[in-house]
Amino acid sequence: MDKIKKNLLSQSIKCFPGGVNSPVRSFAAVGTNPIFVSRASGSKIYDTRGNDYIDFINGWGSLIFGHSAQFTVGALKKQLKNGFLYGISSEYEMRFAKKLMESYPSMDMVRFTNSGTEAVMSAIRTARAYTKREKIVKFEGCYHGHADYLLVKAGSGATTFAVTNSGGVPDDFVKNTIVFPYNEIDSLKNYIRNNRGEIACIIVEPVAGNMGTVLPKKNFLSDLRRISTKYGSVLLFDEIITGFRVARGGAQDAFGIKPDMTCLGKIAGGGLPFGAFGGKKEIMALVSPLGKVYQAGTFSGNPLTMAAGLSVIERLNEKIYKLLDEKTDYLTTEIIKLGKKFGMIVRVNKIASMFTVFFTSDEVTDLKSAMSSDVKKYVRFFNLLFKKGVLFPPSQFESCFLSQAHTDEDLEKTLNAVSDAFKNIN
Ligand code: PLP
Repeated sequence: MDKIKKNLLSQSIKCFPGGVNSPVRSFAAVGTNPIFVSRASGSKIYDTRGNDYIDFINGWGSLIFGHSAQFTVGALKKQLKNGFLYGISSEYEMRFAKKLMESYPSMDMVRFTNSGTEAVMSAIRTARAYTKREKIVKFEGCYHGHADYLLVKAGSGATTFAVTNSGGVPDDFVKNTIVFPYNEIDSLKNYIRNNRGEIACIIVEPVAGNMGTVLPKKNFLSDLRRISTKYGSVLLFDEIITGFRVARGGAQDAFGIKPDMTCLGKIAGGGLPFGAFGGKKEIMALVSPLGKVYQAGTFSGNPLTMAAGLSVIERLNEKIYKLLDEKTDYLTTEIIKLGKKFGMIVRVNKIASMFTVFFTSDEVTDLKSAMSSDVKKYVRFFNLLFKKGVLFPPSQFESCFLSQAHTDEDLEKTLNAVSDAFKNIN
């Protein structure tokens, strides 16, 4: 066995800060040695020690058909024969864009990027140029990528590792980021009323996935729509998780709210690096070279991502969403029943095929209530599942995702593991 293979853990720590290339991959918060993946297929990932795990991380929500879907592999192989980077426009980009815009009619025009972070950064730049305003509003516990001015009370790894504001971000860069609690509209309304003409954009995860799964309250999104229209701010839905997840047309379709701009990523890229931002024509017309908002990317719209993304989104239909919803409903309902059976205080937030198990008696509607969860219990829960070959995110403040590849057998195995975990958690 070569040296690297034998000592993956020590080598990873030598190579990368914290041993990882993205903080959410670290197992530090659950106090366990991480696994190193050797391959992944369907609902499972396989590690270098020969173990397999039923995967509920699913590429952090990117893989709605599970790992290595054969039709995506086929599309990639076919495209490889014709080249993998052109640096010049190709037919594929238009085919893909048309399909995206069919599902997201709020987007008259779109620009592709290589990650969600880039998409959000560029969307906000465009919204600021459009409104000629500087301030933006975001919500506590929402994560929108790692642009400097968005790392204020951000969710995901930033919550897991208690990074309220990231190091290396000058105060000046965040002074125009105004933060409000998720699902709380009154303080935002007052603020906007008193700061008329100053808010360029309100950015929101229409269903939050980065403080665990947190659903919008009944009128939250429609109130945001109304306030944005009234005060001339751009309403930006970050649908990087929810796009093609909560419905084919994302949360904007599921909740019937039309944002001015939308960001997509994850599922839309078919498992390859991808992001997109789009919206009303008069806003998108400001993007270079048509307009003066500069935005660019060597790998944007590369033919491999286009092939992978198209292979996925052209296969998504109502039947698949219905099945995924039923499977997730079954799993989460049974988890709640098991909680009752073993006297565990659990709350399970669920929508479509995403969910989170919180260890709290409070209803979880925002970052504060998410943080009322007993994180030590989640750590034990994670480890007990992990030992049984079930992989949940190594953090309380992330969502679990189901894919079409999860079988009934996977769900039963998971429920057995949950049952054992609840029995042995204390
Ligand atoms: N927005 C949301 C809602 C996300 O969940 C993420 C990543 O998890 C991002 C933006 C950033 O996307 P990326 O990691 O592709 O840069």
